[in-house]
Amino acid sequence: MLDVRYLNKIYTGRNRTVEALRSLSFHIGAGELVCLVGPSGCGKTTLLKCMAGLLTPTGGEVLLDGCPVSGPPPGMAVVFQEYGRSLFAWMNVRDNVALPLRRKKLGKAREKELVDHALEVVGLAEAHRAYPWQLSGGMQQRVAIARAVAYEPKVLLMDEPFAAVDAQTRADLEDLIRRLWHELGVTVLFVTHDIDEAVYLGQRTIILSKSPTVVQEDLTIDLPDERDQLHTRSSARFAELRAHVYEQIQRAKHHSGDTPTNPQQSHSVHKFERSL
Ligand code: ADP
Ligand code: MG
Repeated sequence: MLDVRYLNKIYTGRNRTVEALRSLSFHIGAGELVCLVGPSGCGKTTLLKCMAGLLTPTGGEVLLDGCPVSGPPPGMAVVFQEYGRSLFAWMNVRDNVALPLRRKKLGKAREKELVDHALEVVGLAEAHRAYPWQLSGGMQQRVAIARAVAYEPKVLLMDEPFAAVDAQTRADLEDLIRRLWHELGVTVLFVTHDIDEAVYLGQRTIILSKSPTVVQEDLTIDLPDERDQLHTRSSARFAELRAHVYEQIQRAKHHSGDTPTNPQQSHSVHKFERSL
């Protein structure tokens, strides 16, 4: 469904050049929920913007269902970290959620149905007349998620969407994402810098190196599909996977596309995978 092929992004400014992504490749199958984790500044947002057609890569390509992405593709929705900036203060919750649907010209009745359903699934049915500034951070992020849900995307890209909410709200929103993923059958790429979140949420975790960024490891999360905050997080397997991702992130801070492959390191990764 989603193919990232040899993606390269170099930012050239007047004073400095930053090679954010180097020959980055991975594949996401239809209906998968994949987490992407990497050190701060490694190019996660850059990657997502390239995938969403909001930024032109310097080299390589992104394919959606085999077609190169050259602008925002229909069927793809993005939830950004800074939800505060993506909601319009002068529009109430309902109008904020309905906004991207206007382009689809679905007719009033269908539009209302989609908005009502989206607000319902994120638990905001009661708050549809409120304005964003009257809501807590967690509720504002729910509005941003409802907006993406109402759009009925095939692919949902999320860029550290819960970085600014408190721990309890974050746990609730994580479960909301898993529920939506199950209910809607949508393909999700979820970017986070939180290791627990990267292990808890998805079926796979792609670990990125520091920039120039390459894929350091593509790890299968073999936790049962039925997850809940209490039992999953206290399981022995969760602890093992968490420790492994933590170790890889520590390595990622030193490893980059410039580092020659260290045979000892890949040996230890394989050893870990064999022991799974
Ligand atoms: P992350 O989301 O992983 O924290 P980013 O994709 O935001 O990382 O940034 C990756 C690198 O690219 C950083 O070194 C950042 O300073 C640089 N960068 C990001 N956006 C721009 C830009 N518009 N112009 C120049 N450099 C940028
Ligand atoms: Mg970022």
